[in-house]
Amino acid sequence: CGIVGYVGTAPANGTSSSRDHQALDVLMEGLRRLEYRGYDSAGVAVVADGGIAMRKKSGKLANLIAELAENPMPDSLTGIGHTRWATHGGPTDLNAHPHVVDGGQLAVIHNGIIENYAPLKADLLKQGYSFVSETDTEVAAVLLGSIYRKLTTTAGAALGSKGADSALTQAMALTARQLEGAFTLLAIHGEQPGVVVAARRNSPLVVGLGDGENFLGSDVSGFIDYTRRAVELGQDQVVTITGDSVDITDFFGAPAQGKEYVVDWDA
Ligand code: GLU
Repeated sequence: CGIVGYVGTAPANGTSSSRDHQALDVLMEGLRRLEYRGYDSAGVAVVADGGIAMRKKSGKLANLIAELAENPMPDSLTGIGHTRWATHGGPTDLNAHPHVVDGGQLAVIHNGIIENYAPLKADLLKQGYSFVSETDTEVAAVLLGSIYRKLTTTAGAALGSKGADSALTQAMALTARQLEGAFTLLAIHGEQPGVVVAARRNSPLVVGLGDGENFLGSDVSGFIDYTRRAVELGQDQVVTITGDSVDITDFFGAPAQGKEYVVDWDA
């Protein structure tokens, strides 16, 4: 239902920076701002130690906050956060987002409904993939993981001149092309620290432009405490953010543009 993403950059050696943000703090503040949308579960994931750290809980944000107090997250500059309004599978801890797949390396969150999840799931089951939740979202996550793995194991050849750094972006575009329905999808991968990749179709996504940090939100409330410079993504677009770059393409990898504006309402 509500989505936030964040990537920061570490301050230069020995300096402290006003944007000395931890991903988790930015994500939790964004989720708190997005509470007005209504939700039944919440979760966060960050890239840490070459992998993913993830916590999620059904119920109010307070439940996630209690879980984080009990099981603290490692420091990170890259992460995603989600509040869920269940459509496929009840409001349980297991069905909450993020969904972590690809051997614990890939975390995915999703707003909307994947209409063709059933045939996609049947196909992935046939290929030997397994599922732990009842959600349409986990199907998109497993599909993304399978495509990412194919791209990275068939090595440089398949990835072209952009190289392995763009594997998650390319996998997201290829995945999005196979999905029907409404989705805003965000993904982080343990092998690609410092990157959040997102795709959208029939569901909103806004980029927040910071200084040495960038944000994603299902609406600007997700990052309004940090920046008012926003880029609204168009239909069928993929965006890749790092701490100092924002790259937008269509689902076929062709460069694309969003609509930049300044948020002028009082938060
Ligand atoms: N269809 C997904 C689910 O039920 C996402 C729902 C949402 O937009 O929060 O898990």
